[in-house]
Amino acid sequence: MAARIVWLLVLQVLAVGLAWIFMPLQDRSWALLCAALGATYLWLAFDVVRSGRLLAWLKAAPPSPIPLGSGLWAEVQDRVWRALRQRDRALADSEQRLKDFLAALQASPNGVVLLNPQGQIEWLNDMAGQHFGLDRERDLMQHFANLVRDPAFARYYAQNVVGDGVLMPGKGHTPTHPVRLSVQMHEYGEGRRLLLSRDVTALEQAEAMRRDFVANVSHEIRTPLTVLSGFIETLQSLVLQEGERARYLGLMAEQAQRMQSLVSDLLTLSRLEGSPLPLSNEWVGVDALLAQCLRDANTLAELVGPREQPIAVDAEPGLELAGVQSELQSAMTNLLTNAVRYTPSDKEIQVHLRRLEDGGAEFCVRDRGVGIAQEHLSRLTERFYRVDRSRSRDTGGTGLGLAIVKHVVQRHGAELRITSTWGQGSAFAIRFPASRVRTIEQL
Ligand code: ADP
Repeated sequence: MAARIVWLLVLQVLAVGLAWIFMPLQDRSWALLCAALGATYLWLAFDVVRSGRLLAWLKAAPPSPIPLGSGLWAEVQDRVWRALRQRDRALADSEQRLKDFLAALQASPNGVVLLNPQGQIEWLNDMAGQHFGLDRERDLMQHFANLVRDPAFARYYAQNVVGDGVLMPGKGHTPTHPVRLSVQMHEYGEGRRLLLSRDVTALEQAEAMRRDFVANVSHEIRTPLTVLSGFIETLQSLVLQEGERARYLGLMAEQAQRMQSLVSDLLTLSRLEGSPLPLSNEWVGVDALLAQCLRDANTLAELVGPREQPIAVDAEPGLELAGVQSELQSAMTNLLTNAVRYTPSDKEIQVHLRRLEDGGAEFCVRDRGVGIAQEHLSRLTERFYRVDRSRSRDTGGTGLGLAIVKHVVQRHGAELRITSTWGQGSAFAIRFPASRVRTIEQL
């Protein structure tokens, strides 16, 4: 400020000095006054121009400062400029934070919807878009309750209380392909609401499967137990002849065997689910597996027949598979014993094991037995799924054989292919990938 006054004084002194030197003596007093006033106006005009430029610059908010030299207006510009830059930086920082925050919400595996106090959509992530069938651009600022009209959700939304949330069908839900959502609402800010949605279809299915499984196991165990306790009561209360007693004991042993098979299959399944994946560098000779398979099939044929089942084997010698020996044995034996159980004794069963063109190998059991109608094929590997219950039970089946095969196949990166025609026979093939197959000559 002092510099400005000094400059004004210097200008006035200069003007007065010039008037003193150049004006004649009689006009001097007027000239001196005019010079002083002129200098002041000049200074003022210069000041007005500079402040005008500063104002124009402020209005236009330019990206860089304009040259105002030094002095008061230059300093004002400098300070405003620095304040503006600071504000811009703070704005950019908070914009970046908002972007990061929204990116985090976007990356969430759950659906997130932000609603304003009027219930309009302010923001939603892609997952919420998928869950509710909404478009992130189109549906912005739409009333959420107008777009999602499920009655259970509408009730929950209208109550506007934070609770356990609500279960509702999601976008694309059909009775055959259910999509179930769990939706929760939370309040935040001033009347704003946060909606979180989670796809619980798999969870609900797993829970339903667990319930079914427990019910199935209980049912499977209860039947032989009821029979056993009936026989025990009979043996306790009646005096039986030796022959009859032996017959009852035989039947009891059969039921005990049935429970034993069931428990053994259940244990196999739980081991398969709990153990680490089979290594790809532990090689198992297929010849030995096949030989054991055939022994088990023949033993079963004698048990359920009693009979001798013709089985033709065509196996490439020296083949080895990478995996767990007990699991591979169990899968192959299950397929062959199933063929024995569902094929009349006069019909031949064919087993082949051969390399495929892609370097893999196929183990296939083909029978000309009862066959399976098409509608059952996709469900055969479900636990306790049976096409013919009585036949399965009569031949000692647990309903878990193909579920075990499926697990083993999946764990070994292989593929199970089932083809069958009702009344004509079936073929069950396991295709192993090239990485798990070698022949001993390759060593
Ligand atoms: P189970 O112990 O009842 O045989 P599985 O899981 O091994 O249980 O098989 C499921 C069902 O698939 C069987 O109940 C049977 O109806 C059908 N099945 C399996 N293998 C054959 C086959 N080779 N021929 C006809 N039906 C079969």
